[in-house]
Amino acid sequence: MTITRFAPSPTGRLHLGHAYSAIVASRSAGASGRFLVRIDDLDQARSRVEFEAGILEDLSWLGLAFELPMRRQSDHLAEYDAALLRLVSQGLTYPCFCTRGQITAEIQAAGGAPQGPDGPIYPGICRDLSPAQIADNRTKGLVPAIRLDVQKTVARVGDLSFVEHGRVVSVSPDILGDVVLARRDQGAAYHLAVVVDDAAQKVDLVTRGEDLAPATHVQRLLQAALGISPPHYAHHRLIRDADGQRLAKRADSLSLASLRAQGVTPDDIFKRLGLDL
Ligand code: GLU
Repeated sequence: MTITRFAPSPTGRLHLGHAYSAIVASRSAGASGRFLVRIDDLDQARSRVEFEAGILEDLSWLGLAFELPMRRQSDHLAEYDAALLRLVSQGLTYPCFCTRGQITAEIQAAGGAPQGPDGPIYPGICRDLSPAQIADNRTKGLVPAIRLDVQKTVARVGDLSFVEHGRVVSVSPDILGDVVLARRDQGAAYHLAVVVDDAAQKVDLVTRGEDLAPATHVQRLLQAALGISPPHYAHHRLIRDADGQRLAKRADSLSLASLRAQGVTPDDIFKRLGLDL
């Protein structure tokens, strides 16, 4: 039995790209599988209950059946903290006191940094802070983010792979660099939470947009360090507007709610997305 999920962040209304993602996940579960909806609301500053309600309304309007109750990340912070502690106690993390400005300045001073898919890779400024420097920063009241030490983790877990669309892909562990596992303002961050959630929900097929394909490499590393067996992955194409722009970057004009208000039907949406009814 396949278990899939659609995991939107309730920071706005769903658009056509989300609809595609949700339909792909639902169809991938098949008639005998389970399709879960998860609310990725770690970013409490931007998440709103009315957007969560809107997501459910839009999915129901599309005719997608999903299981209740839904998992909401903000209800599971203690699980993410426990996972973080396991990584910290294995020595696979380090505290990072850098501000965004310091990172940018350091990269400029160094004449640039390797570019990852999401921008420059963190240059490791805090990777080798001494215990005395860390204690000193904490005494000054500075609160660190926690980063994954990718090199130490690779040394611990060895070479890895994952299955993408049925094919074995070798992990490029440093594709995103030493990612932030816990932010100083919100605690657990995306990569850690998603790995814990998918394992807790026994998701065995992750379908999501190909913009998140690079994230799979670091998530696989976290799974190995936490002793979690990996799901299979099937990243899908991104839906773009007529100008080729990603919908996530657009204003509200292609939200499902506004299309619905213009008289567009669910069947129209499926056709527009190139999906069979
Ligand atoms: N919540 C993430 C997003 O909205 C997706 C998480 C995932 O599918 O791994 O982009």
